[in-house]
Amino acid sequence: MGTVADISDAIAALRRGEVVVLPTETVYGLAANALDTAAVENIFRVKSRPLQDPLIVHVLDGAWIGRYADISSCSEHVPKIVDAFWPGPVTIVLKKKEIIPDIVTAGFDTVAIRCPRHEIFRNVLEQVDFPLAAPSANPFGYVSPTGADQVVRTLGDRIKIILDGGRCSVGLESTILDLSRDRPKILRPGPVTAEEISEIIGENVIDYAAHGLSENPNVPGQLKQHYCTETKLVLFDGKDGKFDQNFSGEVAVIFAKKPDSVAVISQKMRIPERNIFWLSEVGDMRTVAKNLFATLQKLDAVGYDAIMCELPPRSGIGVAIHDRLTRAAAKFS
Ligand code: AMP
Ligand code: MG
Repeated sequence: MGTVADISDAIAALRRGEVVVLPTETVYGLAANALDTAAVENIFRVKSRPLQDPLIVHVLDGAWIGRYADISSCSEHVPKIVDAFWPGPVTIVLKKKEIIPDIVTAGFDTVAIRCPRHEIFRNVLEQVDFPLAAPSANPFGYVSPTGADQVVRTLGDRIKIILDGGRCSVGLESTILDLSRDRPKILRPGPVTAEEISEIIGENVIDYAAHGLSENPNVPGQLKQHYCTETKLVLFDGKDGKFDQNFSGEVAVIFAKKPDSVAVISQKMRIPERNIFWLSEVGDMRTVAKNLFATLQKLDAVGYDAIMCELPPRSGIGVAIHDRLTRAAAKFS
């Protein structure tokens, strides 16, 4: 069973080439030395992750980029992104240097690099002084964890060391921005929006997800079906009021914003009040993002016959929430 350990245990284990779970501001990560092929193999094994799905390399600050990526050929946008958003939830894809093992990048000539904001993760990076490959600490395809309890529930029997850093403040995986080609392109929408990035770099970034092109064949690892609960997940648009789908059995409903009257909703949907949940009291989309995965995991553990979840508007961080929910529900459609 995974134990909630302290930071010195985690550092010693990383130096031995083991995997440990560390908190980040986005989701909990399953970390190992990104420069050590055998250590990285452990990540793929523990997660049952396919080797074709490349990992993100986590660094302490912008000064580390040049160690792992070829910055002579890299876009002029890199310093702007680093200044504006690091440490924080934006991953940049650049041409890789040879020091990064092929297993990390799934054989691609590019590497994805991110600088996390969470103090515990930063403290570990500072002390080990090597970069950490760290995908989300969940079995491949399952909902990402935003609390140590969720990691213990889903991977606790496979990992010895889990550092508890509280609930992730952001709660959604990073935005991935490809700066390795002529034109900047968002490969995965995330907490930092296309509008925010466009403003900083002074040109409009290409953003597939915002236009509904959710499966971009040129992007490794962005599968149409991902982040799934085990319980059947059904999405609905809160605005069109189509609540009256016929379900048999116990159904839980998740609203983005707390309903004005839970009693009225309960009657209208013919669902008991105790099965009605919401992600934010006032509908603030950052709070919705923060609570989404934890709520999905919590309800998934209950064993409902179905979970219905409201889709937020596709703007701002809503683009990323929409993306995750659509992929999660794809398994059931
Ligand atoms: P995560 O699942 O949060 O660990 O993020 C990993 C994702 O980052 C992968 O599934 C890819 O979509 C993306 N990624 C990682 N490395 C690269 C790369 N070199 N080129 C393009 N996308 C990458
Ligand atoms: Mg993941």
